[in-house]
Amino acid sequence: MCGIIAYAGQQARSNTILLEGLRALEYRGYDSAGLASVINGRIQVIKAKGKVSDLQDALAAAHAQSGTVGIAHTRWATHGEPNECNAHPHTNGIVTLVHNGIIENCQELKAELIQKGYSFHSDTDSEVAAAVINEAYQRCKDKQKTLAYAYTQLKGSFAFAILFADDPTSIYAMRKNSPLIIGIGTNETFIASDISAFLSYTNRYIELKHDEIAKVDERGAIIKTLDGDFIQKTIKKSDVQAHDITKGDFPHYMLKEIHEESHVITRLLERYMPHGVNDLMQTMDDFANIEEIHIVACGSAMYAGMIAKVLLEQKVRIRTICEVASEYRYANPLFHPHLLVVLISQSGETADTIAAMRLAKEHGVKTLALVNNRESTMAREADLFYEILAGKEISVATTKAYCGQVAWMALFAIKFALMRHQLNETEITVIQQELSQLSSQMEQLIHAPHYKAIAAAIAPYSDCYFIGRGLDYALSLEGALKLKEISYIHAEAYGAGEMKHGTISLITQGTPVIAIATDAALLDKTISNIKEVKARGAHVILIAADHLPVDKAVADEAIIVPHLNPFLQGITTIIPLQLIAYETAVQRGCEIDQPRNLAKSVTVE
Ligand code: GLU
Repeated sequence: MCGIIAYAGQQARSNTILLEGLRALEYRGYDSAGLASVINGRIQVIKAKGKVSDLQDALAAAHAQSGTVGIAHTRWATHGEPNECNAHPHTNGIVTLVHNGIIENCQELKAELIQKGYSFHSDTDSEVAAAVINEAYQRCKDKQKTLAYAYTQLKGSFAFAILFADDPTSIYAMRKNSPLIIGIGTNETFIASDISAFLSYTNRYIELKHDEIAKVDERGAIIKTLDGDFIQKTIKKSDVQAHDITKGDFPHYMLKEIHEESHVITRLLERYMPHGVNDLMQTMDDFANIEEIHIVACGSAMYAGMIAKVLLEQKVRIRTICEVASEYRYANPLFHPHLLVVLISQSGETADTIAAMRLAKEHGVKTLALVNNRESTMAREADLFYEILAGKEISVATTKAYCGQVAWMALFAIKFALMRHQLNETEITVIQQELSQLSSQMEQLIHAPHYKAIAAAIAPYSDCYFIGRGLDYALSLEGALKLKEISYIHAEAYGAGEMKHGTISLITQGTPVIAIATDAALLDKTISNIKEVKARGAHVILIAADHLPVDKAVADEAIIVPHLNPFLQGITTIIPLQLIAYETAVQRGCEIDQPRNLAKSVTVE
């Protein structure tokens, strides 16, 4: 969550580089920001509640100078409210640091430190970490040993960039369950949560792993184990391009990323089935012994999993459970040798999903990670890992990564159907043809004209309901999540038959209800449910597949999506839902790419 950028170079330009880095990390979500620069050997800290632009104003107001070394942070508060005092960096004694993550044992540590005479100015766990390091340093006066000791004392998750007042030309770094990489430039070195923070200076980086301590200065980085042994690291080159992290001509990253969805599908098809559907037999592992699948994820990734559950269970007839990771890991799941646990996460760093993966592995169960980041913890630790090839996603509310997850899971379900000889030649040909047309159909849907007008009917309301059955219910869940994330309209999704068991009491004149109907077998029932809400005054927006005999009069507005084989239907049908959420949020004047309280990559449990 939130972000760290640190810089050590030859030119006194820390503030410019750090502010630029923080801006590039803004997408991760945060509530305050701050930086420390070393000016004439002294550490100067400036912080602000609010946005990076507020920090920039604070720097200007303080006539802050730049140095050759500095650390900076955007905070997503976990301990103490988002205010200037709790913003990072935090200083204790000789130590000034920025921290991402949570120190779980901070209460005990704080009590011990108070006994030793320490006092604290903020409510954060991070200030406690600074005191732990300062206290250890007072005793051993050796930075490597101090940090190695602190590493073992601090429980929870952390990524730190640390300055010591007695050696202000170096920055120290270490991490556990929170990302941090080191960028290697020419006579300048960077530390950041993510490469976008320094990509305009260098695309060369080294990975910092658990149980490692880095000492960084303008010449590069020295990495050691906790025992002090030197580690030889390979410098990697990132293939993230500068245009991947800019908005181009789009007003928001979210809109840009929705427009990129068809490219994601093209890349997935090129990677996993370059010659046709049967390629899946080679490009994906052999799942021959698998008799049950658990799909485990959080947020939108979980809803992508819900679509896959419908396909795997209803079409392929393999028992499938889809569960949120934070529940699954404590639910004492029934593990067995023929189970495959599929873990879905855009970042590959989602804390609860990682914990669920480790739990499955401990029980000897095969794990498959589906991620968008091949350098991530999940990609490294899972038995099998696949990439959704969505490219860098900046908007906090996921669109193209979700789309990639839905599409990859569709291919995965098709692979199972092929293995089990459940698709005849005609069906394979139809799927093949539909896949080859998918990109252009997605483009057409993206450019359809209705979304602004539909959004105008939703934007004035504070509640909105989504209904659908089967696969359409799984899509409704994501549609509702998208709307609430970015427009702050309370939105709920229901299996269409479920509304009358309670929630229909909330329908009054004009309440927007978005109904999805793409499955002929469920159409009559869904239409009845639409009539039930319509009779109570709902303003119904229907999203229906073009093969269905729908009387448009049943709804106030309708969007027609192309009918596809059920394996593929979710990939296109989500587009109108994403664009309705987007246009509604725009009309309500919301901050689209960085919704309040949300972080892009949820690395705390
Ligand atoms: N737990 C720390 C705090 O509340 C750091 C949060 C973060 O990762 O930004 O200040």
